Amino acid sequence: MNCQTCNGPTKKFGKDRDGNQRYRCLACKATCTEPHEPKPRTLGAMILAEEKALSVIQHLVEGCSVRTTERITGVHRDTIIKLLEVAGAKCERMMSERIQGLKVKDVQADELWGFVGMKEKTKTKKGNTAEGIGDAWTFVAFERNTKLVLAWHLGRRTVEDTVKFTEKLAHATTGNFQISTDGFKPYKGNNIVDSPRPGHGTAGWRGARTLASQSRFLAVFFVR
Ligand SMILES: [Zn+2]
Repeated sequence: MNCQTCNGPTKKFGKDRDGNQRYRCLACKATCTEPHEPKPRTLGAMILAEEKALSVIQHLVEGCSVRTTERITGVHRDTIIKLLEVAGAKCERMMSERIQGLKVKDVQADELWGFVGMKEKTKTKKGNTAEGIGDAWTFVAFERNTKLVLAWHLGRRTVEDTVKFTEKLAHATTGNFQISTDGFKPYKGNNIVDSPRPGHGTAGWRGARTLASQSRFLAVFFVR
């Protein structure tokens, strides 16, 4: 093998971490690796061992904080965050590829509250109008019998984000099904759920439609 820079003679120069032979030029000292197919890597550019990465993700899934996970696994918190991003993007892709057009009977939709930086109340009090901070809601729809998560959306508790969420749910499912939600206003405003049927106290229903899927949902509205 000749040098790729100056075409001069080379000498063997150890192996890389995948076991490919490396060479160093005797004239210009440049190093290169023998021609090889790049090895497929689960974690992309990350060097972290897969076993270690799995342990980190298991701790995070169990609800451990980033710093707790750092102390237990010995992986630096910046690496943990990076891994979280890589794994999250892969999960998202897998979900949109595999979970689509499913036939479901009974779907429950919930919103989980959280905040970024500060709560909405504090933000208003401080007169802060910055985007990307304040209350954040995670919309989740899951099949009630199997607990399979069909769709989720992170956003604000607005009509706009609710519509985006229902579009994702429409992508994940097919046909008519029953959907149970709380009495969140944008659902009603978009005909995603209807107001209670007169005389039925806690629950009413009718065929409802989302803006995305037109007449596909049979909705149940639980008054809490
Ligand atoms: Zn050379």
